[in-house]
Amino acid sequence: ETRSSARLILAEAPVLAHNYHPLPVVVARAEGTWVQDVEGRRYLDMLAGYSALNFGHRHPALIEAAHRQLDRLTLTSRAFHNDQLVGFAERLAALTGLDMVLPMNTGAEAVESAVKVARKWAYEVKGVAPDRATIIVADGNFHGRTTTIVSFSTDETARAGFGPFTPGFRVVPYNDLAALEAAVDETTAAVLIEPIQGEAGVLIPDEGYLAGVRELTRRTGCLFIADEIQSGLGRTGRTLAVDHESVVPDILLLGKALGGGIVPVSAVVARREVLSVLRPGEHGSTFGGNPLSAAVGSAVVDLLATGEFQRRAAELGDVMDRVLAALTGAGVTSYRVRGLWAGVDIDPALGTGRQISERLLAEGVLVKDTHGSTIRLAPPLTITEEELRSALGALKKVLG
Ligand code: PLP
Repeated sequence: ETRSSARLILAEAPVLAHNYHPLPVVVARAEGTWVQDVEGRRYLDMLAGYSALNFGHRHPALIEAAHRQLDRLTLTSRAFHNDQLVGFAERLAALTGLDMVLPMNTGAEAVESAVKVARKWAYEVKGVAPDRATIIVADGNFHGRTTTIVSFSTDETARAGFGPFTPGFRVVPYNDLAALEAAVDETTAAVLIEPIQGEAGVLIPDEGYLAGVRELTRRTGCLFIADEIQSGLGRTGRTLAVDHESVVPDILLLGKALGGGIVPVSAVVARREVLSVLRPGEHGSTFGGNPLSAAVGSAVVDLLATGEFQRRAAELGDVMDRVLAALTGAGVTSYRVRGLWAGVDIDPALGTGRQISERLLAEGVLVKDTHGSTIRLAPPLTITEEELRSALGALKKVLG
């Protein structure tokens, strides 16, 4: 490609659907924490592909695993076994403390699959009357973009014009155990929540909420589905965000970083009794569990098994916390941080989240706004303290 960044951006409008409004940078290369645009300008990546790049761009161990597998076998479909998938499932079960894995590709597919599994479990195991199962979700959720998932979104932009919607969902306020308890009844198959709401602005529930959801779902006989597609795999300073409250859900949803930023890999990981409701022919995916994805996913789990990335996220998260505390009242109105993941509310008088993101881009730092005046910071977990401080220094500069 020999066109300039400006020409490439202009060329998009007539041929690419307008469902995104990207920042005006055209990335052509990347390594570790750094990306390079078409003209060779370098930027610190403080978004990390919405946490799909937790190990940075092109982590050597992941690239090597991908290359090795590319040279042997890439796709079989699940019509046949492949020699990579079972090792991936064994690793993932060991990492999460759960039993069984349903491999899919995207986050939304994992959520959809969990909705199907929970409903089937409700009919076959719990004994809910046919077609009566309900799933309780939280206000402000983000679980993906399919028709069923936007059916229980509370974001009008995500829903408007896409009905009719899938029934069977109840929305309760996030971080409110009493409201959750009031919504549970004999039709409840599951409670589906993000342990930290990422797209909503990195909203962290009160301490005790996740343990409370675990206790409530166990006591009332419904499943706890934790969507850790964004919060999981090292981001928060632990392997999973639920680990902060020593909670094990019945169904865990993983995606994004599970594919190492190389291939789309997602998974429904669950107790055996739950995932066993699926029998041959009832669910599937052409690409789910393909050997290339399984090889990369296995290498991802091997990286996490060292604990190094969780440790880095926790330590550097403390650095980020201290710097953001110092900026509070000086352009930052409030912020939430857990590991290397922060939602930062900018004083609206200083500009929208979009405008702050554009000013940071000019300073060589890539971030993305979430809502209104909130920006999200989620760098690769491989970032050095010096790089992190330099990105936060750029934030201080654009706020000053
Ligand atoms: N669930 C959560 C918590 C997410 O943050 C996302 C993506 O941002 C998804 C699900 C959907 O994942 P995907 O975009 O891979 O479908």
